[in-house]
Amino acid sequence: MSFILGLRCGSCGRRAALAPVHVCPECFGPLGIEYDYAALARSVRREDFAAGPPTMWRYRALLPVGDEAPIIDLGTGFTPLLRADNLARALGLQHLYIKNDAVNPTYSFKDRVVGVAISAALEFGCETLACASTGNLAASVAAHAAKAGMPSYVFIPADLEPPKVLNAAIYGTNLVAVNGSYDQVNRLCSEIADAFGWAFVNINLRAFYSEGSKTLAYETAEQLGWRAPDHIVSPIAGGSVLTKIAKGFGELRELGWIPAGRTRISGAQAAGCAPVTGAFLSGAEHVSPVRAHTIAKSLAIGNPADGDLALRTIRNSGGSAEMATDEEIIAGMQLLASTEGIFTETAGGVTVACARRLAAAGHIDPEETVVLYITGNGLKTPEVVSSIVAPARQIAPTLEAFAQTMSGAVA
Ligand SMILES: *Cc1c(COP(=O)(O)O)cnc(C)c1O
Ligand SMILES: [Zn+2]
Repeated sequence: MSFILGLRCGSCGRRAALAPVHVCPECFGPLGIEYDYAALARSVRREDFAAGPPTMWRYRALLPVGDEAPIIDLGTGFTPLLRADNLARALGLQHLYIKNDAVNPTYSFKDRVVGVAISAALEFGCETLACASTGNLAASVAAHAAKAGMPSYVFIPADLEPPKVLNAAIYGTNLVAVNGSYDQVNRLCSEIADAFGWAFVNINLRAFYSEGSKTLAYETAEQLGWRAPDHIVSPIAGGSVLTKIAKGFGELRELGWIPAGRTRISGAQAAGCAPVTGAFLSGAEHVSPVRAHTIAKSLAIGNPADGDLALRTIRNSGGSAEMATDEEIIAGMQLLASTEGIFTETAGGVTVACARRLAAAGHIDPEETVVLYITGNGLKTPEVVSSIVAPARQIAPTLEAFAQTMSGAVA
């Protein structure tokens, strides 16, 4: 693999050969991908990316995907970075952007991570793709496996939102609903991964999977004219996307492709599942597991695999962390829709609601350039807002009947 040196343990620093393993054989620390940045800087220029496809694959040189590896591309990434002046006014900010990842092929940012993981799975010769999912990963794994002609198994908590179940099932996957929490599903899947040797994208392929989220940072920087924002707000479930957005900006600085400086990284969680925010606010050094209970099911991971790393990333960047109640999450979804015309799922509601709290508390400076990462689509969780939107006014097909309804019009 071109710029990839191998796997390296984040705890003890030991190297390991590329393989579908995610923990250090010596100390059980988390394995990450190590790159040859010097070689990268010598052979790639940032101008080269513009000539690539209008997808995340334009950044292939910065991903753990070998030159010969097959790419299963559904058209993921290069999603819009939208200036959000209406929402900015509502939050008291001046330079606010939305990275709208709700418009990916399976309607969440998970297509980025699955795209990288399935390439690794195919390169390692794995025959079955699988995942433990809080909902969005299920659809993405099922869709990518369908495109690759690969069998897939998708494990979900049995209480998942029906649209998310449908959105995975349509691709023809083996869908397994487990009577338990996501954390229990995940534990079961670790055992299945060992027993069956399948490629679980977010378990034994986690080192590869998580690298896909770096493309959120690369795209943001390129779309801002090769500079990083001053401050970003990212949702946190397992803690992978937040830490990899930070890593992405760090790599671009190390390669000299964006100006030196720092990007403050702030985290957003639901109050009903806020292990990282709780640790941040209490000054704890480690994240303690919690029992999840929130409408933001895609963020309901009580025992986040990258929780400590997310906590460190936030602190080292000078960022902050917040949490939002179920009511605030719904209000956040409504606010984004009514100000910017973007319908996001509950996870996006968490991000907007936490950004609102961070701005109100002065943790976001009004003059900072801020990017909110909107990671999933509102049609995934319609039931939480169905009761709060105004119903259609039913009328007879006459001008008179319509004129009569005008008195109750929305301004
Ligand atoms: C999975 C998910 C997240 C969080 O991802 P982690 O990398 O596990 O922190 C955020 N938003 C949505 C919509 C998701 O599906
Ligand atoms: Zn180790």
